[in-house]
Amino acid sequence: MTPMERRPTPVDNQAKNRAPHGSPILWGGELAALQRDASFYHRPNTRSAKATHVAVYSTQLSTQGGGALGHFGAACAPGEIMLNEDLFFAAEEVGERARCRRRACESLFAAARRQRGDLDHIRSYYGLEHRIGVRVELGLRVQHEGHPGTIIDTRGQYLVVRLDDEPAPVTVHATSGMTYQGKDGWVRAVPLPDPYASV
Ligand SMILES: [Zn+2]
Repeated sequence: MTPMERRPTPVDNQAKNRAPHGSPILWGGELAALQRDASFYHRPNTRSAKATHVAVYSTQLSTQGGGALGHFGAACAPGEIMLNEDLFFAAEEVGERARCRRRACESLFAAARRQRGDLDHIRSYYGLEHRIGVRVELGLRVQHEGHPGTIIDTRGQYLVVRLDDEPAPVTVHATSGMTYQGKDGWVRAVPLPDPYASV
């Protein structure tokens, strides 16, 4: 399983509802990264370069007195490293030198790179935005063979979907048995026209 498949379903950074601990945070349909929030330290370390971490939802951040702080933690230490919610980055846009190198962040930065390439390909190849008005991205609600779920990852030119009634993710073809949540409601994907049909 990929790091995305081992984690709870990713959630948009604007989501108002509480999400399960460890859910990746999305920014514009991609994994989000944030800098560490040092504002609550007595002597924040402002001299070393701020590491940027991949953001996940955290239910375990608290002050020493037990008060709740933010909800976004670093993937590498979600209960310990609170992230500054003021400045979102797409993880793939973060420069190499600024990236946290701890294991969980590193693996999600790598996932973000793979997903960017896969989504670029899926969007341009199947043209769903142009043909049915749907921009394929992580977190998008879909139905596969009538079963609702959420896009949680990519696998080459395929999408990885977690269905609401089935915890194990399924790998699906972008236009086969797929209905997408569009701006004006559900819209069924149609296969690409056969390029030889009109030759
Ligand atoms: Zn990290």
